[in-house]
Order: sequence, then structure tokens, then C-alpha cells
Amino acid sequence: MFVLLSLILTAWPADDASLTTLALPAQPTRKVRVFVDAGHGAPGNEGNHGCACQLEQDHTLKVAQHLAFVLAATGRFEVKLSRRPGEEPLYRPRIAAAEAFKADVIISLHSDARGEATPSFQDAGVCWQNPNAPGFSVLWNEEGPAFPRREKLGRAVGERLREAGFLAYSGFDYASLYRQDEVEPSGWIDQRPMKKRVFFLRGSLIPTVIIETHHALDEKEVARWEELATVDAFAFAVGAAVLDFVAR
Ligand SMILES: [Zn+2]
Repeated sequence: MFVLLSLILTAWPADDASLTTLALPAQPTRKVRVFVDAGHGAPGNEGNHGCACQLEQDHTLKVAQHLAFVLAATGRFEVKLSRRPGEEPLYRPRIAAAEAFKADVIISLHSDARGEATPSFQDAGVCWQNPNAPGFSVLWNEEGPAFPRREKLGRAVGERLREAGFLAYSGFDYASLYRQDEVEPSGWIDQRPMKKRVFFLRGSLIPTVIIETHHALDEKEVARWEELATVDAFAFAVGAAVLDFVAR
């Protein structure tokens, strides 16, 4: 269980030396309020099925809980989770909860299932894999007065995740759904037809980004996201980015 193991918040020995646990930048004058959304997990909305038939809603909950734990443990943040094990909140109530919490930012976690996949025969049944589209991405929405702050947050998150050693996704399979940001290579802006745009990215004036943590059909990436070093490096990178965002 990640949460218990990471009581030690100093650098954890990483199996993959390319990931770094970043130091947090200067202490703000107050605690920063972060609303962490574990994507999916709403009724009838479990998200993608990965290469080991793992569910996106389980991945996002696990990483969200760890992120919330680490951020709170640094003493720099107040953190609220959108859902806990056994809960299935709808998306509008999640945003209402973030607003009631007076969140400074909303960080919503997801994973992608990208491109052409081939069958992979597992104990759980036939799953699908594709090793050709690894990496993370950061998504935001450019509509309305909240856009400049969403963009600022998205760029900070992407920059810090790359600094920590996470690979930015090429975006090849996003095609016309997202437009790549001109500044941050891991940043992608929702370009779907207006009625199909991601609600969570445009449903609030609170600066909101989605982080697609990795490619759920990629066995290597999935294995890496089971390691404590990965979720720790991720949590500190997100924490550093939120502090950058507040300071800028
Ligand atoms: Zn998702």
C-alpha cells in the first residue's frame, strides 16, 4: 500500500534512476488548497481497461490517495479528495465540493488508452496492449476567463513532471481532439466540438488540469506506476508545480 510506505518522505531509492523526487520551492505564506480528483469512478464510468485488464478508476484512486497523502504530509497543502474507496460521486458534485473547499487548483488524474492495440492473453481474460505510445500529458481548456490561469497551471505541471524525469507523450493519437500547447510540449488543449469537450476541464473557474499519468496499454509504464518511486516522484513534481503556479 503506497500510502503507508511513504511515511518516509525523503528521497526513496528509485529502481529507475531517471526519475527524481524534486525538492519543493519556497514556502508560501499560507497552505495551498488542492482538490485531487480520482478520475472516473462515477456510476457506470470505470474508465479504460489496461493491458492487464486493470481499470482506470482503480489506478486513479490509488495515485490520488498517494498524491493527497504526500502533499498533506509536507505541511504546505490542504488537500481534499474527490472520492474515496467505495464512493461513486458524479462529476458536478465533485466540482461543487472543490468550490465549497475553496480549492486553489483542481488536479484530476486519468490514464490514456491509445492507438492500435493487440490482444494480450492474461489470467483476467483477453486484455489489450500497445507499447508504442508511452508518456504523460497535461490537458486543459482554453474557454472563458479562467483560461490564462488554467494555462499557467498546466504549463507548470508539465514542466515539473518533465523535470522529474517523466516522459511527455508525443500526442500522435490525440489527432484533432487536442491541440499541443505552444510552450509546454506535454500540454494539450481540448479542441473537441464544443458540446463534446471534457466537462471537468470547463466546469469551474478554479484552475483545473487533467493529468494523463501514463499509457494504460503499455506494460512497462503500467509496471512502473506500481512502484513507490514513481508515485512519490509524481507527487513531489505536482506539489512543486502547484507552488510554482501560486508564486508566479
Ligand atoms: Zn480517463
